[in-house]
Amino acid sequence: MSQPQPGPVSVPTPTPTPTPRVAQRFVPFGGSIFAEMTALAVKHGAVNLSQGFPDFDGPEVAKGAAIEAIRAGHAQYARMMGVPTLNQAIAESWAERGFGVVDPDACITVTSGCSEAIVCSILGLLNPGDEVIVFQPYFDFYTAAAAMAGATARFVTLRPPASGNGAFTFDAGELRRAFTARTKAIVVNTPHNPTGKVFTREELELIAGECLKRGVVAITDEVYEHLIYEPGMPHIPMCTLPGMQDLTITLSSLGKSFSLTGWKIGWAIAPPHLTAAVRAAHQFITFSSATPLQHGAAAAIRSPGDSVSRLRELFRSNRDRLSAALTAVGLTVYASHGTYFVMADHSALGLGDDRAFCRYLAERVGVAAIPPSVFYSDPALGKNLVRFAYCKKAETMDEAIRRLGALG
Ligand code: PMP
Repeated sequence: MSQPQPGPVSVPTPTPTPTPRVAQRFVPFGGSIFAEMTALAVKHGAVNLSQGFPDFDGPEVAKGAAIEAIRAGHAQYARMMGVPTLNQAIAESWAERGFGVVDPDACITVTSGCSEAIVCSILGLLNPGDEVIVFQPYFDFYTAAAAMAGATARFVTLRPPASGNGAFTFDAGELRRAFTARTKAIVVNTPHNPTGKVFTREELELIAGECLKRGVVAITDEVYEHLIYEPGMPHIPMCTLPGMQDLTITLSSLGKSFSLTGWKIGWAIAPPHLTAAVRAAHQFITFSSATPLQHGAAAAIRSPGDSVSRLRELFRSNRDRLSAALTAVGLTVYASHGTYFVMADHSALGLGDDRAFCRYLAERVGVAAIPPSVFYSDPALGKNLVRFAYCKKAETMDEAIRRLGALG
């Protein structure tokens, strides 16, 4: 019997890993720093003060209404601009706070989080070649949305106070110089992530003056509108300034005010001629947002009880304790008047730039934070800074503060 002939030995050829086929417009943005820092936090068992979401649940009133909406069979697409009860709830709450009367159907568009509202406003409004002014450090959706629109972002830098402790400010001349013949819009985020700054009336008037002179639209991101901790610092929506109602798209969302960031229910409030721009994009991006969650959102906005004020009290105490702990170990801590973030200068500790410092913090101290250079057009501007989120349970903050003591 003849032996079977061995066939040719097949050596598996390694399959080359396909290179990511990412469109050019997204290449400069790379991967999300939030995913990177959260992965580092998980790997090292670090207390995660990096990404800005609470580690506790939202109010029962919202959950109950959403569950009821599911049981009642609200299972189909919502109206493109939002379920009527939510549009009405947003309009009523806006009017009750003295910010003006808006037609809920003509002037309010419900979106999938403020994130979608940002993208819809910028994509809906800007043509390729247009310019949008952005204060830096910035929430990175603004610049990514500008890139998607083929528009150019021009930056005005918020600078920390020379002596520490105060709030970030900007230079009026730098703001004026940022406006050009191509400027279509300016994004104003107040209270401001990541600095914790609450824009003053004078600052808003300065910006409004430039907008009114040139017909530039203000896109205002007010997601932290309820999270201000200073009694003398009211939230001032840009659209309430004289002449600005017709030039402002006001954006906000449910997530920050009610500890429901995962619901991704947001909205844009704007006069009909600007709502047209928001909806032009919204109808082709998501068309509509989760129906039962919109019912839940309406209930939360109509009957918040003390949920928002309790959240504010917790965050105020967290802010005070964290700021004191960071100061005690040698960081210069800047005033966080609003949001749930605090920025600090770590350079006195001599542990490298912001990325090196955050790596050290996660690996050796057991606390994860965000390196703010990712929020600047020129990363060097953020190299001495670090951002902490304080939207966590008191016990989580206790543990983070205990660990941060090791830095001293
Ligand atoms: N704007 C700012 C300034 C934010 O910080 C965030 C969330 N980090 C958003 C918008 C996104 O809001 P939402 O979760 O409602 O999409």
